Amino acid sequence: MKEKFEIKILEYKPMIGLEVHVQLSTKTKMFCRCVNDPLRNEPNTLVCPVCLGLPGSLPVLNKQAVDYGIEIGLGANGQIQTESVFDRKNYFYPDLPKGYQISQFFHPLVVGGSLDITYDGQQKKVRLRRMHLEEDTAKMIHAGRTSMLDFNRSGIPLIEIVTEPDMDDSEWARMFLKKLKNIIRWLGISEARMQYGEMRCDANISLQTLDGKCIGKVVEIKNLNSFRSVKQALDYEFSRQVDCMKNKIEIFKETRGWDATKGTTYPQRRKEYEHDYRYFAEPDLSSIVLKKEDIDLVAGKMPVMPDILEQRIRMEFGLKEEYISRFIDRPKLFYFYEEVVSELKLWIKDKKLSIQGIFGDIEVMNNKVAGFLLVELGGMVQDEREGPRSLENVTAENMAELLSMFYSREINNQTTKALLEIMVKEGGDPSNIAKDKGWEKKTEIGELEKIAQNILENNKELVAEYKNGKDSLLSFFVGQVMKETKGLSDPEEVKDTLKKILGQRD
Ligand code: ADP
Ligand code: MG
Ligand code: ZN
Repeated sequence: MKEKFEIKILEYKPMIGLEVHVQLSTKTKMFCRCVNDPLRNEPNTLVCPVCLGLPGSLPVLNKQAVDYGIEIGLGANGQIQTESVFDRKNYFYPDLPKGYQISQFFHPLVVGGSLDITYDGQQKKVRLRRMHLEEDTAKMIHAGRTSMLDFNRSGIPLIEIVTEPDMDDSEWARMFLKKLKNIIRWLGISEARMQYGEMRCDANISLQTLDGKCIGKVVEIKNLNSFRSVKQALDYEFSRQVDCMKNKIEIFKETRGWDATKGTTYPQRRKEYEHDYRYFAEPDLSSIVLKKEDIDLVAGKMPVMPDILEQRIRMEFGLKEEYISRFIDRPKLFYFYEEVVSELKLWIKDKKLSIQGIFGDIEVMNNKVAGFLLVELGGMVQDEREGPRSLENVTAENMAELLSMFYSREINNQTTKALLEIMVKEGGDPSNIAKDKGWEKKTEIGELEKIAQNILENNKELVAEYKNGKDSLLSFFVGQVMKETKGLSDPEEVKDTLKKILGQRD
């Protein structure tokens, strides 16, 4: 009898719903004109009476924050509400000196929506409950027995995205966050880097039976700040709750924290001590009223969403799956790629060459250019959003010219990379830079033959060894010739030339 019961209680899976806060990268804060730059390291330099919460100051709504909220709402297929209202969420904490946070409770900006996620070959739709705007609080920094406050973060716009409890595995939660991050970065409304607090997650978890009946109490794990900790905290909490069930220990509806060092969750507050926030409409702000035209205007400026773009890249450019997924992670680089490809076609025509002649066919060209941009250029600019070196200096036209020079074998690999370095650092068009540096022409074939002859004359013994079967010496000869031509020849051409001469003597 007892055994039967034990087998039954193990047949649970987690039920998971997420609440995600994302800082919006507007130029200025949500309700004042202070610069929104949370990573700026001199504390309390981006502040004013509004974001310090001084009495008598009045908030003024930043339209850009609303537009960004509309973008993510539309991007996740939600319904943008024609009227949404700010509320005061009242509580006391040192990082919130005015005693309330401006948020949206009763009438959020966005209702509904969903994201499609894939994991382990399976697809799942995670429904969204709502998205609302709110302001960030100041940042508390604890140093020994002292706690300090930095108000640079206070008043930065946040969008909170609340899902339905549609996930039944911690891995789905991780995939959901990845997808959300991708869409947000795609829209360019936040960098959404969890390690910088630009995206933060609270995870709700309870137990459900395998056929989907919720049977436990919901535990909310607060302030998870990496994909890894979301997964680990959920896995830990799931097994804790299963253990509780097994040992007939009561599971409380409570808020728990995550201790990354110990790898455990710990209780913070029970439901009975839960705050009563005494929400009421913010009297200092009018509601956000949006006409269909307002929403359409924002929609018109949005990029095509990644799922749709992925299809297009596949159909239009015929790229390898690896390149497609890498471009989806680096949208700016993809849009640059698109421009470069069309410019390259013009250069090829201009030079009276043909795509067929150079590449064989257009799909080969598309893939070669994609590979070049992702590997060579992509490596140099690191992440185009993060690194100090950005794509700003390189125009698509100049990039295409460089590629036309490279693929029509006017310049070799080494020269191409050297030119690219300069273009990324300083800008400029490659043929001019090459002229300035004396790199514009690789060594002529006739000249190459002379140089190769000379090198071989001067290394008679090695030539003999080569002819006796020491094939590895060929690359030594190639190296010598390359050195002599100051790297301005094509190694493949040099190899062919050397082989020809060495062969003739046989
Ligand atoms: P509220 O905080 O407004 O009461 P809920 O607590 O119902 O709203 O929902 C907040 C979050 O908790 C949502 O992300 C939701 O998906 C999640 N959630 C709700 N019910 C459950 C459940 N049984 N198990 C896990 N998560 C849940
Ligand atoms: Mg809640
Ligand atoms: Zn301010």
